Amino acid sequence: MPTTIHRVHNFSAGPAVLPVPVLEEIQRDLIALPAAGMSILEISHRSKTFESILAQAEADIRALAGIPASYRVLFLQGGASLQFSMVPMNLLSPGATADYIDSGSWAEKAIKEAKRVGTVHVAATTKADSYTRVPAQSELTLTPGAAYVHMTSNNTIEGTQCRDLPDVGSVPLVSDTSSDMFSRPIDVPRHALIYAGAQKNMGPAGVTVVIIRAELLERSQKTLPTMLNYAVHAENGSLYNTPPAFAVYALGLVMKWLRAQGGLDAIARANERKAAKLYAEIDRTGFYRGTAQKNSRSLMNVTFRLPSEDLESQFVREATAAGLDGLKGHRSVGGMRASIYNAFPETGIDALVQFMQQFERTHG
Ligand SMILES: *Cc1c(COP(=O)(O)O)cnc(C)c1O
Repeated sequence: MPTTIHRVHNFSAGPAVLPVPVLEEIQRDLIALPAAGMSILEISHRSKTFESILAQAEADIRALAGIPASYRVLFLQGGASLQFSMVPMNLLSPGATADYIDSGSWAEKAIKEAKRVGTVHVAATTKADSYTRVPAQSELTLTPGAAYVHMTSNNTIEGTQCRDLPDVGSVPLVSDTSSDMFSRPIDVPRHALIYAGAQKNMGPAGVTVVIIRAELLERSQKTLPTMLNYAVHAENGSLYNTPPAFAVYALGLVMKWLRAQGGLDAIARANERKAAKLYAEIDRTGFYRGTAQKNSRSLMNVTFRLPSEDLESQFVREATAAGLDGLKGHRSVGGMRASIYNAFPETGIDALVQFMQQFERTHG
């Protein structure tokens, strides 16, 4: 990258930092994809070039996560938020109950949408603890024969993450993995459906990845609006209508980058190292205070507070001026949030730790 280009450390929760080699490739090929002589922004989604971009993105996702042939990979639009509706519309039949694990603000939104569609049972909630931890297995009150159990693997706003998948027996497990997809190995066969908006850990905004066990597609009723029907998107290879071609292309490049990093085991080790450095600094003196309970701490979104809200505003102001951008916590919870997804470089963690030490020395 030319030295005249200045990039800050981007701690944004999403859209979020992308790997520089991916941005460079996009920049290099933006005017014309070598194979096509035209831009990805201009190309027909029915062209051979785009068909192969889509197929390659799917192949790389499958290889990365070890997705069995009995699962379909769909590229949809509407963000993870539309999945809050599509999941119950497709999987929750009249008379059946869906169990939801309420572990944070996004889970709450998923519950709200599911209730518009059918019967919802909240199998556990940590709202009374301000969502500072994820529910334990022993707290789950599961409905026998439920249509599915819905969980949120990483709670982006509160900075908590599930270490282990819940044991839900033979009931299909549906997981919103929007903020930790491909940050660590994922046990696909234990899930019936996995979904994630791309813009946190997989690419730019505009595409949502849905990985669904093929047999579940039989539940999608023909009376559903066509665009909200998983079976329609599966039958048409995610090309029922115009897909977000640029977002799929960029996501494909990120998947290739992830494979070049050594895959999910390697990226998980890097993510653990990065998060451990930051939590060590938070725990060092007591000036900073991690908001998530220790055994629920997220490796993706690190949330912490300072001794006062005045100091927090000052911290954000000075950090931004020092090239550490996006550290202000979600407006609903306040405090700080450092989002440190796959593409966030370890040098950025070092810069933040150094800044935190200096801030504590001058304001502590
Ligand atoms: C960001 C986020 C969403 C919402 O994603 P959109 O793509 O903006 O709809 C849902 N769930 C989780 C866990 C998220 O982090």
